[in-house]
Amino acid sequence: MSSSVPSLKVHPDDNVSIILTAGGLPAGTELDTGAVLLENVPFGHKVALADIASGGPVIRYGEVIGIAKQPLAKGAWVNEHMIELPEPPALESLKAPVVPPKALPPLEGYTFEGYRNADGSVGTRNVLGISMSVQCVAGVVEHAVRRIREELLPLYPNVDDVVALNHSYGCGVAINAPDAVIPIRTIKNIALNPNFGGEVMVVGLGCEKLRPEMIMLEGDDKASKMFLQDEGLTGFSAIVDDILMQARMHLERLDKRQRETCPASELVVGMQCGGSDAFSGITANPMLGAAADLIVRAGGSVMFSEVTEVRDSVHLLPGRAASPDVVDGLVREMAWYDAYLQKGGADRSANTTPGNKAGGLSGIVEKSLGSVAKSGSSPIVDVTGPGERLRRKGLTFAATPAGDFVCGTLQLAAGMNMHIFTTGRGTPYNLPTTPTIKVATNSGLASRWFDLMDIDAGRIASGEISVEEGGWELFRLILDIASGRSMTAADKLGIRNDLVLFNPAPIT
Ligand code: CA
Repeated sequence: MSSSVPSLKVHPDDNVSIILTAGGLPAGTELDTGAVLLENVPFGHKVALADIASGGPVIRYGEVIGIAKQPLAKGAWVNEHMIELPEPPALESLKAPVVPPKALPPLEGYTFEGYRNADGSVGTRNVLGISMSVQCVAGVVEHAVRRIREELLPLYPNVDDVVALNHSYGCGVAINAPDAVIPIRTIKNIALNPNFGGEVMVVGLGCEKLRPEMIMLEGDDKASKMFLQDEGLTGFSAIVDDILMQARMHLERLDKRQRETCPASELVVGMQCGGSDAFSGITANPMLGAAADLIVRAGGSVMFSEVTEVRDSVHLLPGRAASPDVVDGLVREMAWYDAYLQKGGADRSANTTPGNKAGGLSGIVEKSLGSVAKSGSSPIVDVTGPGERLRRKGLTFAATPAGDFVCGTLQLAAGMNMHIFTTGRGTPYNLPTTPTIKVATNSGLASRWFDLMDIDAGRIASGEISVEEGGWELFRLILDIASGRSMTAADKLGIRNDLVLFNPAPIT
């Protein structure tokens, strides 16, 4: 006696379906789609639903994710070894829509408790960020941060933490190269992140190429800087004392910040994925997309990023462009990145990892189609370059590399006050400065990493919740965590990653 086993066909036009059974399925299993497995197929992987000729398209999400390199029989396992990538969408063919997309209906009445800053931005945490103009000072700053945490923070109970805004830039770099603008504006804009309350404190060495003045706002009387090479400072303890004295001045003011009720329109949410699998695009990323729509409807700001994961889906985006400038921006950022990869002798296929492939993703096209689901369905109002600050509320494509820490660091520079991160393979990733909510794409990961994940989106695959219900659940959790009413799993555990700068310019 045999009964057919459910598998997931994502789009009616697809000629593959996804294995949903934990541990995979053995040869001979009959799927509900009619295919009988010709071999063992792992969890999350694809099965051909019809015979596919050599050179024929493999279709998932209703899009061509690959070209068969060999004949694929109905019931065969379809993985990265059997397909070639199609050409990426031609950038010249992207055109703005004749009729601009309609905005989603507004959503009123949602608020969170945040720290309102003088420039109008709103923080979700109250953190002293210590910026630096060059890596040479990082060891000394780390030492000072340890002492600040132990000796000063107990005196300022309203301040959550102190964080060294560490980076590898500042000297030994081609400071005037055209692309140097990216790391320089990133360092500057990170210090302006709303969680730091406008209290910009920069530690420099003295002889570096990146002058602290280049990363400070002119005329900001709350900003302070010091140099380790200052001739008035004799010995290590005098240097550290000077950093502590400046820190105290900023802590005094940060300690006076109070949470107040702010509309959800003050949320600035960065969406990201990492350690993705075949479920990223059908559970967690659509859940983020649904939450993104709610945030945009509430008047807030959402950014999606990761250029190499948008490149192969970019033809799906112009219809959502709120203006021709958005299409121009998409073309500009995609073309810049194509050239950047080409200069390094690579292309967008370098994106997928062994873990992605083991998780059922056969290439960057398939990964990309799942990745852009994080953007939801609202109009795209703007496109920004790496390290730029957001200019508009609504949905922005903020161009960044897809590497997790680099993307998160650039979204931080854009002004992000909440970060949402999906993972299928599992990563403990967490930013030191901004709450990072982690969403598991499958229930196996969510239960194995019960204390590292915040939300189990695998319930969407099992039918327990809908994508819309998941979006509301995430939206409410964002408001809760932004208000300081609850903490993310990784923050409870105190796990932090480094900020990692994107420097496409030469090093000397
Ligand atoms: Ca990523």
